[in-house]
Amino acid sequence: MSRTLALSAAIACLTGAMITAQQPAPSGARPGAAAAAAADVRSKLVQGDVWIINAGFVNVAVQVGSDGVLVVDTGTEAAAPKILAEIQRIAEGKPIRYIVNTHAHADHVGGNVAIAKAGKSIIAGNFAPQAGAGAANQAKIIAHENVQLRMSEGEGNQPPAPTIALPTDTFFVKRFDLYFDGEAVQLLHEANAHTDGDVIVYFRKSDVIATGDVYVNTTFPVINVQQGGSLNGIIAALNHIIEITVPKDKQEGGTYVIPGHGRLADEADVVEYRDMVTIIRDRFQDAIKKGMTLEQVKAARLVRDYEGRYGATQGFWTTDAFIEAAYRSLSGAKPSARQSTR
Ligand SMILES: [Zn+2]
Repeated sequence: MSRTLALSAAIACLTGAMITAQQPAPSGARPGAAAAAAADVRSKLVQGDVWIINAGFVNVAVQVGSDGVLVVDTGTEAAAPKILAEIQRIAEGKPIRYIVNTHAHADHVGGNVAIAKAGKSIIAGNFAPQAGAGAANQAKIIAHENVQLRMSEGEGNQPPAPTIALPTDTFFVKRFDLYFDGEAVQLLHEANAHTDGDVIVYFRKSDVIATGDVYVNTTFPVINVQQGGSLNGIIAALNHIIEITVPKDKQEGGTYVIPGHGRLADEADVVEYRDMVTIIRDRFQDAIKKGMTLEQVKAARLVRDYEGRYGATQGFWTTDAFIEAAYRSLSGAKPSARQSTR
């Protein structure tokens, strides 16, 4: 799926260096800096009531309907004002009622405070007589309980989150259901995948899944072993996504998939990615069975045929970082140093 939505132009990577879209500002229309800043956050209706907001290198999903607004992930703290402005533009005055966090990392929860607070202000404006109590006066933040735990702990460069940024409603079951904006919205826990608190969010009527970081199409899978992530958990999550998605007959599209990072996808994209990850897993497992060390696996370049597409030699999630995480995840070896991912 590459032609349907222009958002593919904003392919981003986890290094934080955004590959910018081929959208030159009209010459003389406005100052270049302002045009560039405005281009950082862009939205597109995916289908049904669900929108994708591409905020630099991370994606936010937004459902807008008669009950109000549900936001999946809130982007970085720095981008929060722009993301919020874009949500409000799409929402046309409807209140932000729910935020769902797919996992605990700062590039997915950084806007929690700003966006939850805005939910409060909209509710206060429209429903002031009913709202009353302070807690009811801001958007609820829903997440798996491990997200709340991980956010309160902090990790690496990420300090513990302030209480106001934490999920207000947590759950520990495999599936948490909401009915909002006339459709079933299911939060499905993907155990031990990118972290131990990942959920994918399935909008059943709109037929869209927001996956968080269990599926990204910019890099090799990001596995935070320290926080309970695992390569096999990633594969299980990808298989689960494929189980839910249905392609249009002989066409692209059908169920759409919003990845945590990268371009909008459909089932075929996820299948291709799952196949790649599965092939790599099998090679690694084989190597581990033969008694190869991490250094030997690195030297054997077992992922070289995929490096052109998903590899990186520098930045946040390098090929070596992936190999190390995958190896440790499969062999049960403890990380040598404190590993930080996002
Ligand atoms: Zn993450």
